[in-house]
Amino acid sequence: MQDYLNQLNEAQLAPVLQKDGAMIVIAGAGSGKTRVLTYRIAYLMEKGVDAFSILALTFTNKAAREMKKRIAEIVGASEAKNLWMGTFHSVFAKILRIEAERLGYPSNFTIYDTQDSQSVIRAIIKEMNLDKDVYKYKQVYSRISSYKNSLITVKAYFNNPELMEADAMAKMPRLGDIYKAYVARCFKAGAMDFDDLLLKTNELLTRFPEVLAKYQNRFRYILVDEYQDTNHSQYLIVRALSDRFQNICVVGDDAQSIYAFRGANINNILNFQRDYDDVKVYRLEQNYRSTKNIVEAANSIIDKNKTKLEKIVWTENEPGNKIIVNRSMTDGDEGRFVASSIFENKMNNQLKNGDFAILYRTNAQSRAMEDALRKKDIPYRIYGGLSFYQRKEIKDVIAYLRLILNPKDEEALKRVVNYPARGIGNTTIEKLIVAANHYNRSIFEVMEHLDKIDLKINSGTKGKLQDFVTTIKSFQVLNESYNAFEIAEHVVKKTGLLQELKKDATPEGIARIENIEELLNGLRDFVEEQKELAESSGSLSEFLEDVALATDLDNEKGDDDRVALMTIHLAKGLEFPYVYVVGLEEDLFPSGMSMNTREELEEERRLFYVALTRAEKQAYLTYAQTRYRWGKLIDAEPSRFLEEIDENFLEYLTPVTENRYKPLIDADIFDEVDKSNLRLRKPTKGTPPRGPSEEQLKKLRRLRPVNASGKEKVEVDSNLKIGTLVEHMRFGKGKIVNIEGVGADKKAEINFENGGLKKLLLRFAKLNIL
Ligand code: ATP
Ligand code: MG
Repeated sequence: MQDYLNQLNEAQLAPVLQKDGAMIVIAGAGSGKTRVLTYRIAYLMEKGVDAFSILALTFTNKAAREMKKRIAEIVGASEAKNLWMGTFHSVFAKILRIEAERLGYPSNFTIYDTQDSQSVIRAIIKEMNLDKDVYKYKQVYSRISSYKNSLITVKAYFNNPELMEADAMAKMPRLGDIYKAYVARCFKAGAMDFDDLLLKTNELLTRFPEVLAKYQNRFRYILVDEYQDTNHSQYLIVRALSDRFQNICVVGDDAQSIYAFRGANINNILNFQRDYDDVKVYRLEQNYRSTKNIVEAANSIIDKNKTKLEKIVWTENEPGNKIIVNRSMTDGDEGRFVASSIFENKMNNQLKNGDFAILYRTNAQSRAMEDALRKKDIPYRIYGGLSFYQRKEIKDVIAYLRLILNPKDEEALKRVVNYPARGIGNTTIEKLIVAANHYNRSIFEVMEHLDKIDLKINSGTKGKLQDFVTTIKSFQVLNESYNAFEIAEHVVKKTGLLQELKKDATPEGIARIENIEELLNGLRDFVEEQKELAESSGSLSEFLEDVALATDLDNEKGDDDRVALMTIHLAKGLEFPYVYVVGLEEDLFPSGMSMNTREELEEERRLFYVALTRAEKQAYLTYAQTRYRWGKLIDAEPSRFLEEIDENFLEYLTPVTENRYKPLIDADIFDEVDKSNLRLRKPTKGTPPRGPSEEQLKKLRRLRPVNASGKEKVEVDSNLKIGTLVEHMRFGKGKIVNIEGVGADKKAEINFENGGLKKLLLRFAKLNIL
């Protein structure tokens, strides 16, 4: 046992040493909340609490693994192994498997991922003959999801005229019917979706008092990290389980609540004191993660929020560098800036790729970053987006594996019944679906009994369907004696999946085969690991559970060194020495979709606070003046968040744009303006500009007088007239067909050979006169 308690400050020590009772730790970013949870668990075990009776709920499975590792270092691996630790979804999926039959589910129920759920909903909308432009499946899915997370079952929905009216107002009066059909369809397929894992746990704990008692007695100590982002469904589970012993410790930061859009309820943190007797509230104030500059800049942002608990965050860490702000011309330039900066920092400070993270508001922004990193040969990994397990070829293999365990799984069946092609057409599949609905059986069951029902399917096709059933059944037999890796290898060969992919010799085709190999490698590792841990035998069902709940963060291999790219939402709880927060533009961050109310804007601001507080040593904030969004070139304005940070903590860089092509129209002005800090709204106090010399600046000032409003006057080349032939980097050659606006707002409408008609703001458009 290490002397770990001296690695805590006094404020942190208090909640660790309070063994029993209800407590909440509210504290800002980087103040050691997660460390307190970790050490508290170690302390409980040291004081004789059985590992089996401790339940710790984390935000990602990765966080749980890291916590377990640290605890194992303190108390020993054999003890730590027995802790119940993981995300809400993974812990309660385990419990649901044990108790499934009470709820009418098979214990081998499938977990439908978002794609599966959306595909079921899409099918239902089609079957009900609803207009798919009104009933958009993704929207329907998210409404149903939010009902489930608020514990509004189908029955509760139909008992609630207000909800029905709200959906009718949203032009979706049949939403309840879709909800009902969706729930029935999942049930018939022996499937639970992500939200069911929480909803059904609640159902289990309320309908079966003996089950509730069992788990209340088991989990005598409950701990929850990132409590501010629990939704109603999660909140009720925690409250029910902790009700008997009331040994509950939650930690969180209201300033980092960023999942309201998914139903997270900040009131859970605010009301905690009401829910338990004698709640002890602890506050931590000292930040150990970041430099003074970063901590204070972050404080200056969150200060702008009205709805918040007052908190103090300070640090003894060194002041560090100022936060660097960089403006680029285009999103492409922004990517190049970030890649070059990472490259330089690595060289100058002997850093690893893994010391860097690039954080963005939306997944789409990763592309420009990726392109630039690739050009500089900097290895990176994207988290989120399309995860490994969501790629088509991987989902195909997984679908076979799912069918082996649960042949009722309709999404899996539909996916592979005719893949690789075996002559089972859509009409046949539709007949099967109709029959399955009619007899209230699964499609697979219908296929098993084709000779008993007359579906008007010809004997050739019937034979093919029966072959498919036989194949799956033969896999099931093997599954009784083989491990997950062996089964998967067999499936890949016997179904003809690999042969099918080998037909495609394109690089994409080859990549797909490599992915399947990677899946098999992963399976082999999984089996080995499980055996080593002596936790299990590495069975298929364990593997599938892991896959269903895997987030990208969980697939991280510790051994390779890459720059991390992810959305800010995903970065919560993590830390990196160098952090680039990119795309700080109005409408992007804050998101254009989240600026309508103060609540939404405050959530965006919290998101910004989360982003900035991930940085340990150096933070960069970048934005572009033009950006491609939804296929269009958009003029962007710097984010209001840049204005909001106390400028004492910022250093505005002067952008260096690559001179990628030959003479520009009034090349000098455009080129030099790029390199000047003339247009910067907040010149750095005291720090010499890194760009042009004083000499150049004087010249530029003469050329581009700044007017009274502080906006510089822009002179655009007067040679640009209607009829002028020009060349643009992206769109190629074109002819000006119209000119409008004056000065900085002057725009030209240009008919491009490659890009068609485009309207460009001349002060940004890099045009070459032909
Ligand atoms: P977040 O709000 O971002 O989740 P947090 O409050 O959970 O942050 P931790 O991740 O626990 O903070 O801690 C931040 C960093 O500070 C970690 O690297 C942690 O190891 C370190 N740290 C925490 N407490 C101490 C301490 N007493 N002494 C030294 N380092 C500490
Ligand atoms: Mg934390």
